[in-house]
Amino acid sequence: MSVNPVRGVDYPATYQQLLAWFPDDKRCLEYLAGLRWPDGFVCPSCAGRQFWRTGTGLWMCQACERRTSVTAGTIFHRTRTPLSSWFAAIWFLTSQKNGMSALGLQRVLGFASYETAWAWLHKLRRAMVRPERDRLAGIVELDETMIGGVSDGVHGGYGDKVAVMVAVERNGTRRLGRVRLAVAKHPGTSELVQFATTVIEPGSTIRTDGARTLRQLAELGYTHEYTTGYNAPDKASVLPGVHLVASLIKRWLIGTLHYRVEEHQLPYYLDEYTFRFNRRAATSRGLLFYRLLQQAVTTGPRPLHSLHNRTNSP
Ligand SMILES: [Zn+2]
Repeated sequence: MSVNPVRGVDYPATYQQLLAWFPDDKRCLEYLAGLRWPDGFVCPSCAGRQFWRTGTGLWMCQACERRTSVTAGTIFHRTRTPLSSWFAAIWFLTSQKNGMSALGLQRVLGFASYETAWAWLHKLRRAMVRPERDRLAGIVELDETMIGGVSDGVHGGYGDKVAVMVAVERNGTRRLGRVRLAVAKHPGTSELVQFATTVIEPGSTIRTDGARTLRQLAELGYTHEYTTGYNAPDKASVLPGVHLVASLIKRWLIGTLHYRVEEHQLPYYLDEYTFRFNRRAATSRGLLFYRLLQQAVTTGPRPLHSLHNRTNSP
């Protein structure tokens, strides 16, 4: 697999090509192996490079005889569904500019159950952001913003707002770079500083409002530029990137998903939005298919119960 994957060579150019390339699990496994071990098989036990393929689709190390599944430790772990169906789901999810609702996925794949489509989409969202990777750099705007239309999932009442932490790169005066998002559990606290240190490279310049807790950023290896609340006419003019991203997210949640998002599920949607936003300039939708599968084979499994469990947030 190459650093600059090529359409029609490294990933399918069309849905017809997808069907032709991946008719069965065997072909899907070969493809996933190429993504997981780009330089060839490496035994997780002894780092051996020589292997046999077993009749059950495993890689067996010639040195220590350990058997390795290419899907072990990924979202495809112990799936009972053919991998070709997963590949089709990923194709649909990534080939639509704004993504797809669970109902939409249920329809195109002919699932009997809405619940299955919903669980698949959430597993795939978890594969969309690689934690600890791809930290933002350069000039970065940072703020909290309120996202409305989120249900707290407890009282059944809608219309609540949730604080979301937004960091977005400014490339030049107008253009936005990459974004990172997370739900704020404790808005208005130094949680925003912790978020910044997780998602922004030291040495970057961080622009914020004048909140006092954020002054710590200057001692944490960043150049901190802030506008004090007294001088700021309004937040949108001080941090235009953050507020543009916030309004795009709101529009996306309402326009694409057509249903209310429960608060404990919001992180999954933020991950999907991040994946799409950061790849919005991709010349081919198929490249997003490739990137998502690539990330999926390096992302741990998410059993359904952890998706529903609100205390088990990422
Ligand atoms: Zn080995």
